[in-house]
Amino acid sequence: MTELAPTAPPPSGRRSEPASDGWVIDAIRRHLSPGLALGYKMAGRDAVEVEADGATVTLSDGRRAVDFGSYGVTLLGHRHPAVVRAVERQLGSMPTATRTLANPAVAAFAVALLDRFDGAFPRLWIGTDGADAVEVAVKLARRRTGRLRVLALQGAFHGKTLGALALTASPAFRTGLEPLLGHVTRVGRDDVAGVEAELERGDVAALVFEPVQGEGGVRRLEPDVMRRWSAAAHDAGAYVISDEIQCGLRRCGPFSIARAEGAEPDAVLLGKALGGGVLPLSAMVATDDLYSPLARDPTWHTATFGGHPLACAAGTAALDAIDAAAVRAREIAARCERELDDLAASRHAVVSEVRGRGLLWGIQLRSAGLAGTVLVDLAEQGLLVSPCLSAPETIRLLPPMVATDAELDFAVDALGHALDEAESVGDDDAARTESGSALRRA
Ligand code: PLP
Repeated sequence: MTELAPTAPPPSGRRSEPASDGWVIDAIRRHLSPGLALGYKMAGRDAVEVEADGATVTLSDGRRAVDFGSYGVTLLGHRHPAVVRAVERQLGSMPTATRTLANPAVAAFAVALLDRFDGAFPRLWIGTDGADAVEVAVKLARRRTGRLRVLALQGAFHGKTLGALALTASPAFRTGLEPLLGHVTRVGRDDVAGVEAELERGDVAALVFEPVQGEGGVRRLEPDVMRRWSAAAHDAGAYVISDEIQCGLRRCGPFSIARAEGAEPDAVLLGKALGGGVLPLSAMVATDDLYSPLARDPTWHTATFGGHPLACAAGTAALDAIDAAAVRAREIAARCERELDDLAASRHAVVSEVRGRGLLWGIQLRSAGLAGTVLVDLAEQGLLVSPCLSAPETIRLLPPMVATDAELDFAVDALGHALDEAESVGDDDAARTESGSALRRA
């Protein structure tokens, strides 16, 4: 029988008062997913998140956790003051656009974002999620070329809407839904000749790649490979779409990796941290050529909340804050690289590889079970990191640009402890593996 309400109401019985932690987790278990609730329960040791500031999250039982996860959204940490102020200002004047009149917050965001690309992209489309940006870019490439085929990479993650999912590689998300959007050809991450051969057939609309694959296990593309793909795509009349939803916005150093490395994409996709960690915001920036169907008919691809003034205000403030934090980000990045290499060097029994760049790092354990053990241990110690959805043996660290030295010290100690613990527990502790899976589901 379907249960319509959690067993116990909030303690006072009045909805206006905060619910107990048990009620929160129970509601999630009943109405969202039992696995999700179990993951949350384990990560918080029965407590829930109630407040956050910078890289620190405060739990309902008063404990604090350091957030190096949040799936890449909190590049500026939580509640960045400049972003919060901008949102508050917008909230006090006009949070929602009529979409009949011109809105200054939308125009300001458009100019601020395109300014960061040195004139390469005069156009943009504004959405709320990463998958929104993927969808519009693929639609434009198909429309402009009159071709259907899209080349996407092994290990790629581009989102889970039906169109974006067709480009996402992981069978875990595709099984039972196929055939998805057709005419997607999977190519190897370093396969120049293979990509050239596909392009030579003359039926490819677009090549889509992440310069650093995040969900796929934190794997960088070689700059030279990106450049050669891009040149071959353009020679064949196909568009190049760089999905920097996770790795862009200076998380990995440059504002746009593909552009910094000379790949000359026709569109760059941004999301996650674009709303400053405060509001959902995504964007596709594009050349005049690729964008032309939308310039001609702006109703051709719309979303009711695309270009929401609150999100745009957050985005404009976030862009300045990201630029301002670039020096600190480089310091944190250098420290991450050094410390993670050191941690891995003495722990070959459990760590097979450390990969990453800037503020996006993957620690590949020798098995998914070990990764589960480490995830559980880190959560228990109060370090929040993200699993890799398509590479369960890799855990992902996404430190914010605002992390303090004390938070970094804590993270390094917690990681060392968790890796040592994993080594002593070993690979075959089924309960820990199951716990790790629950955390991955969360
Ligand atoms: N593209 C990349 C590279 C991503 O990492 C993600 C999400 O993790 C997406 C697209 C999809 O973004 P969203 O979940 O906001 O739709």
